[in-house]
Amino acid sequence: MFSANLIFECYEDSTLDRVMSAIQNYIESLRNSGQVIGREIPVNQEGAIFTAHVMCPEEDALSPLYDSLIVQFAKKQLNESGVLQPKVQLIGRDLLSDQSDRCQTFSGFILFTNYISTCSPIRCYDHFEPVPLYKLPAIANGDQKQIIKWQEDYVACDQLQMNGALNIQHAAIHELSSIQSDLFRRGTDLCKRLQYLTKVPVYYYLYRIGGESKKGEEERYCPKCQGEWKQPEPLHGIFDFICETCRIVSNLSWDHQ
Ligand SMILES: [Zn+2]
Ligand SMILES: [Zn+2]
Repeated sequence: MFSANLIFECYEDSTLDRVMSAIQNYIESLRNSGQVIGREIPVNQEGAIFTAHVMCPEEDALSPLYDSLIVQFAKKQLNESGVLQPKVQLIGRDLLSDQSDRCQTFSGFILFTNYISTCSPIRCYDHFEPVPLYKLPAIANGDQKQIIKWQEDYVACDQLQMNGALNIQHAAIHELSSIQSDLFRRGTDLCKRLQYLTKVPVYYYLYRIGGESKKGEEERYCPKCQGEWKQPEPLHGIFDFICETCRIVSNLSWDHQ
């Protein structure tokens, strides 16, 4: 990922409320298109100049080429609130975070995230690197907001189960690992939609924990179609199970690795 400053300059008298609201709205639209990543985005003010410090998947992520219709609209609203078009100042590569996938065409995707992940939850099937969301067709209503909201909910559940928050851990694990869960229903809907738009297979990652024994876990079937899905070797060292019929991938229970 790359860090950058977005610099906004007021060109006419406006109120702080109007300016901040237009800037926040613009940044939110960039998050929902996938051009900006993360939720904590500090904004500093020095006179008539406002600077937002953002993280982006790639160095050219803020290019207007990738603006969704909603980003374009938010840019117009900046103008109407007395703010010039934002200038981008690239700071550099963040050495601690994931690199984005470099593929131009894809053989497939996997919807995958976890509690420490802030990058795109759409991974390249072949390289398992995150694919910037602005490189993909808009999933619904002109941008990727539904994918971002699904990821926020998934990450929250994963954080709860990692922290072992006793009373709520069971509910969180249900959301992550059951095909009866709301996360599964919404996630697989997103996969189907993306598959329709890109014409390549899109797999849903179903988290697996618990189970009686390693042998029992190795012999389990696809929870949706009850078909065979065990792989001779785990894909990317994680996915021991792949169901081509249901487009679900899963791991050998983390309790029996
Ligand atoms: Zn790739
Ligand atoms: Zn299946």
